[in-house]
Amino acid sequence: QRVGHTRTVPFAEPGSLTRVHAVTSGKGGVGKSTVTVNLAAALAAQGRSVGIVDADVHGFSVPGLLGVDRGPTQVEDMILPPVVEVPAEARSGPRAGVLKVISIGMFVDPQQPVAWRGPMLHRAVEQFLTDVHFGDLDHLFLDLPPGTGDVAISVAQLLPSAEVLVVSTPQQAAVEIAERSGALALQTGQSVAGVVENMAGMPLPDGGVLELFGSGGGQRIADSLTARLGHDVPLLGSVPLDLALREGGDTGRPVVWSAPDSPAGRALRAVADRL
Ligand code: ADP
Repeated sequence: QRVGHTRTVPFAEPGSLTRVHAVTSGKGGVGKSTVTVNLAAALAAQGRSVGIVDADVHGFSVPGLLGVDRGPTQVEDMILPPVVEVPAEARSGPRAGVLKVISIGMFVDPQQPVAWRGPMLHRAVEQFLTDVHFGDLDHLFLDLPPGTGDVAISVAQLLPSAEVLVVSTPQQAAVEIAERSGALALQTGQSVAGVVENMAGMPLPDGGVLELFGSGGGQRIADSLTARLGHDVPLLGSVPLDLALREGGDTGRPVVWSAPDSPAGRALRAVADRL
């Protein structure tokens, strides 16, 4: 502990040039982590400096989605996050971007369930945001646990300027989720930057579309949040169900790098362009 040193979150300082995106969802399994990783990877491929904080304490998956098997390194009282290389063929500009990742999964035994309670979670998130040395970032993504629990509230307190991104399937009881995340954003004064619909209709070889999880939920959430928050909350994009995306996640290569022109790859890159 540094005595007499006020711990501050550098990304919350008034002069900070880093855009912070807090990615949330109403429930687990909707592709929140997959979307987070791919948006970050797409921006890094464009040459930006990007960080990801995997704060989904009970379901951390970001290292696996990026094939990161290293932990952070410590230099004096600084924790340096692992850096993920953007493969040369995935770069869309002359400059190689940077992708730095830190996960609660790097600090716990993967065989053990994480059974932390509120105050400990708050401290862990605070430590990620204060002691991890990311350097200058253009974008910082926070992969939050689903719902409006302790971590989401801690992030709202530590980073009131974070813009919330809501990930949902087309199926969910859209209005209910919008009400909950909207209520939290209203309470904390955060703005909701938009909605990303995931697991939308899959194009079929015969030209049809398989709408496994229905359709229209993303737009309904966007409309409901717009009405509730009094500012425009757009549907930023609709990402189809896509085998390439699932395979990319399982092999630790984000689809925006491994198959950028697949249906999901295109959709995710288009969302990244709107951030
Ligand atoms: P969450 O973070 O919301 O719990 P994940 O990102 O872990 O969800 O995704 C859950 C599972 O669904 C993963 O196996 C992932 O590969 C798969 N998945 C997510 N989005 C899609 C998609 N658009 N098409 C196919 N599979 C997907």
